[in-house]
Amino acid sequence: MANPAELFGNNVFNMKAMREHLSEATVKSLNETIKTGKSLDANIADEVAEAMKEWAVSKGATHFTHWFQPLTGATAEKHDSFIVPDGEGGVVCKFSGAELIQGEPDASSFPSGGLRATFEARGYTGWDPSSPAFIKDNTLCIPTVFCGYHGEALDKKAPLLRSMNVLNEQICRLGKLFGVEAKQMAFATLGAEQEYFLIDTELYAARPDLQLTGRTLFGKEPAKHQQLDDHYFGAIKTRVIAFMEDLDATLWSLGVPSKTRHNEVCPAQFEIAPVFESLNLSVDHNMITMEVLRKTAERHDFVCLLHEKPYAGVNGSGKHNNWSVCGPDGKNWLSPGDNPHENAKFMTMICALIKAVDTHADILRSSVATAGNDHRLGANEAPPAIISVFLGDQLTDIIEQIEAGGAKSSKNGGHIHLGVDTLPTLPRGNTDRNRTSPFAFTGNKFEFRAVGSNQSCAGSNIVLNTIVAEALDEISTKLEEANAAGKDFNAALQDVLADIIKTHKRVLFNGDNYTAEWEAEAEKRGLPNVKKTPEALKAMTTEKAQKLFSKYGVLSEQELASRYEVYMEAYEMLIGIEAAASVDIAKTMVVPGAVQAIKELADVSGVTGKAVKALCAQISDHLEKTLAACDKTAAAKGWADQIAGMDELRAAVDTLESLVPADLWPMPRYEEMLFL
Ligand code: ADP
Ligand code: MG
Repeated sequence: MANPAELFGNNVFNMKAMREHLSEATVKSLNETIKTGKSLDANIADEVAEAMKEWAVSKGATHFTHWFQPLTGATAEKHDSFIVPDGEGGVVCKFSGAELIQGEPDASSFPSGGLRATFEARGYTGWDPSSPAFIKDNTLCIPTVFCGYHGEALDKKAPLLRSMNVLNEQICRLGKLFGVEAKQMAFATLGAEQEYFLIDTELYAARPDLQLTGRTLFGKEPAKHQQLDDHYFGAIKTRVIAFMEDLDATLWSLGVPSKTRHNEVCPAQFEIAPVFESLNLSVDHNMITMEVLRKTAERHDFVCLLHEKPYAGVNGSGKHNNWSVCGPDGKNWLSPGDNPHENAKFMTMICALIKAVDTHADILRSSVATAGNDHRLGANEAPPAIISVFLGDQLTDIIEQIEAGGAKSSKNGGHIHLGVDTLPTLPRGNTDRNRTSPFAFTGNKFEFRAVGSNQSCAGSNIVLNTIVAEALDEISTKLEEANAAGKDFNAALQDVLADIIKTHKRVLFNGDNYTAEWEAEAEKRGLPNVKKTPEALKAMTTEKAQKLFSKYGVLSEQELASRYEVYMEAYEMLIGIEAAASVDIAKTMVVPGAVQAIKELADVSGVTGKAVKALCAQISDHLEKTLAACDKTAAAKGWADQIAGMDELRAAVDTLESLVPADLWPMPRYEEMLFL
């Protein structure tokens, strides 16, 4: 294996490549732009473009592309070669600053949710210098935002960057109140753990449902799957480790800091996790990771399934969104500090998160609402659709003390600070773990576990950044008012935090989120429990959501409305595709198999007894049910009836699978697909 340190970033126009290919002054100027978000000095664009091209061509690149993230949830690219005719029958390779900074892909086929009908059909891509260019498929990829003529966001990156700016502002404002010396911009950090399944290419090719919808629409539960927990963290099979080695090497060369790999709970399920990075970069890297997962799988005769629930009845795949904040002092603000002062800031952050998540649980839920994720949330391995926050015993104890009038002792710590510094010293390395909570504090970050494996992380982090910024805004406003009125800072802070806790503690839950008791308790507390995407997405259409996103300039009312439309339409379309595929597969594959089974049984009915006749009748009965459910599904109008039809159809088909001889069953079974 190649040395990771030598491999890392080989295909990235990173600091090292910049220093080699650019003048010192240009590196400095570009670095300023990257670090501070200051707009790019237009004078250096040509030099940077030329250097990028030289570097890329030296590595075999022939094309460049503006790489962006439209609302489809995937990434998009249109390649242009570097060639320019030289007038003598030959060509030279050129790449200008203008080409680097802005592109104009034909955008008419990307979903815009009506935005472009109102404005103009054009779409523009604009360079995001904070995410470095990289080479894949011999193409120089330039990360870009994708906007309409008037700057309206048609993608996921533009609002993500806006939300990062807003969070930066509010974090710095709070920092000022705590006397933090600002050395840099504050930014959210993200480490996205990615779960996925692998399946043999040959088996995949025999499952039209997987090919068309990413999940199995039929399939009887096998006798053995994950019950024995013998796959989780198990020794990795030879073929799979070869795939993983290839995967890591490719990711490292693309500058993706892939760190952890292991077998997941379900057989044929795995996880990859990176070292966390600045949010924008980490989101890009997760998008790259998903693509590299798929492509690397192909080279190893696998198909990588990123669907949230490829197989019913066993674990689905999520994406654990580990989120924190790196403050203007360069420190993690969700890490308990060394002194009471820092801990006061830490507890303020915790309270801001509680306030944000409780106030906007509906919007956070809407950010993970997809057809695929509906199968996962609330199943027995994934967090429920109820958004609650896990803090662990120790922090909960301190929260309760603050609510009661000021924290004086830490449950396990023993450090007591009285008087001015009313908050205790908190031991580091909070080891409490709760794997069932959708939003869990894990010692120095919050882990949002409801994100679907196939989703871009952008959506949930746009929401997280914005709702936390709003909470911080309100907290800082109160503290500033208290300051202006000459009130004692610590006393004012105590009051503000106690108020937040009183109002929002209903969102705190340390118990088992998978139980029916919690569902009942959550209902009593008035927490929303929205199970289906169409209802969850409605949270994007409320006045509360419009005010939130437009107040902070993250999404205008129109941009927000367009997103609702795009996601809702995608949902309805997908359910429609699933319904049509279900009917088609049932009629053209399952029914003929079952008819053949009846024929074979009928052939021997003269010489067999009652049991065989009964079996024949049973198959016939479920065949009738299958055909009736086909008609019902095909005739269904709208997603709710289509889902009801598909449920009925699946029940009939899965029963047939348990009755029809294996050699007549027209598709690979779960037991074949789940074990590699
Ligand atoms: P777990 O026990 O939940 O698996 P890990 O320490 O392995 O916890 O971290 C899981 C993910 O969280 C990794 O991708 C890691 O890089 C990320 N992570 C760690 N610290 C931070 C942070 N400060 N901000 C964002 N993500 C982080
Ligand atoms: Mg984790």
